[in-house]
Amino acid sequence: MPVSHRESSDGHRLDCPADRDEATAPSHGLRVAVLGSTGSIGTSTLDVIAASEGRLVPHLLAAHTSIALVLEQAQRLRPRWVVVTDPAAAGEIGPGALPEGTRLAVGPEALDELVAGPEVDRVVSAIVGAAGLRSTWAAIEAGKTVALANKETLVMAGPLVMRRAAETGARIIPVDSEHSAIHQALACGRPGEVCRIVLTASGGPFRTRSRESLAEVTPAEALRHPTWSMGRKITVDSATMMNKALELIEARWLFGLPAEKLAVVVHPQSIVHSLVEFVDGAVIAQLSPPDMRLPIQYALDHPYRMAGPARRLDFTATMRLDFEAPDLDRFPAVRLGHEAAARGGTAGAVLNAANEEAVRGFLAGGLRFTDIAEVCGRLLDEHPFQEHPTLDDVRRLDAWARQEVCKWACV
Ligand code: NAD
Ligand code: MG
Repeated sequence: MPVSHRESSDGHRLDCPADRDEATAPSHGLRVAVLGSTGSIGTSTLDVIAASEGRLVPHLLAAHTSIALVLEQAQRLRPRWVVVTDPAAAGEIGPGALPEGTRLAVGPEALDELVAGPEVDRVVSAIVGAAGLRSTWAAIEAGKTVALANKETLVMAGPLVMRRAAETGARIIPVDSEHSAIHQALACGRPGEVCRIVLTASGGPFRTRSRESLAEVTPAEALRHPTWSMGRKITVDSATMMNKALELIEARWLFGLPAEKLAVVVHPQSIVHSLVEFVDGAVIAQLSPPDMRLPIQYALDHPYRMAGPARRLDFTATMRLDFEAPDLDRFPAVRLGHEAAARGGTAGAVLNAANEEAVRGFLAGGLRFTDIAEVCGRLLDEHPFQEHPTLDDVRRLDAWARQEVCKWACV
């Protein structure tokens, strides 16, 4: 490969592949559909779009019930479409609420159709939970480039999604910070040279709490994350460390690695976003402050890198990077993630649905914090496992697991 030489600011010579130099001008005016624009990832995505100097254009904003916020976003960004997936909430939108040139569509079917349309260049999948699967699937069916935050899509139906993406030519670029880090680190070697992938975990707000006291954790305590500001569901998932369980399964399918090559390490500062160890012992990591705008922008601009709004590391300040093994006795959810990643089949879908319902039950006061992992483990053991489920099987077991958790929460 031809190589060009440039001077860096401190006078060192930098070797740059010449063809990459030529390719530094990315496409202009990429039309972005933001599914879940009113959430934590959605609003960070709009920051990235606003700072992109026209490289990224907000084409479609989709929200479920946060009408006031999506209307404010529409007034500010003037997308072509606003989609409200909850028809009852859409009824609150009065005449003249949307800016001129912005059209309203209602319901999940309308969203599927618009996402697949020819005017959409990039899809940000940032709806929370299993509800995100259908529109992400519609984007993949249409061969789109998907910036995937909704990890539940891969947890529920990883093999089906990855196979369909290969068939349609859809590209899935992870937004989850750990998977974004791994995506970046993997570029340093070939697939056969990967020895293992290590996902970092902040450890959540209860990293140092005793096992006994975890049963008494309140929703307010679980919703206070030490390093990340996120939606409610993923914040509780981080507190139980179920988030890491879901991420193990996500990594299993996204990177096509066997479960035994996946590991978790607790890193409370959330600066090292994950690591890849190669067969020669080299470990490649990606570092940055905990700010989702970087992985979102990486996914939207891939394969280019641009200046953006994300915070930067300050190497003049003292910085510590600590690592410790996760405590599987206090955080049994991590073990469930390893187990579901190894089993494959319907295990991910059942774990995901059980967890979603259990988190709902915990936030509503019907379940204790420690019940979340317990009910998930029990349903994982008891469910009628299928090794090669269809999408319908996945949906059926999702519904079954939710019913079972409701029975548990009602007793
Ligand atoms: P959030 O709760 O802040 O936002 C959720 C969004 O989904 C909202 O826009 C809401 O309107 C929409 N939504 C909710 N229910 C819906 C339904 N039934 N149909 C259609 N839309 C619906 O969530 P978040 O923290 O932004 O997380 C979004 C996704 O990104 C999750 O899958 C999460 O695991 C993943 N993720 C989030 C972060 C983060 O920092 N927040 C990091 C990594 C991955
Ligand atoms: Mg993550």
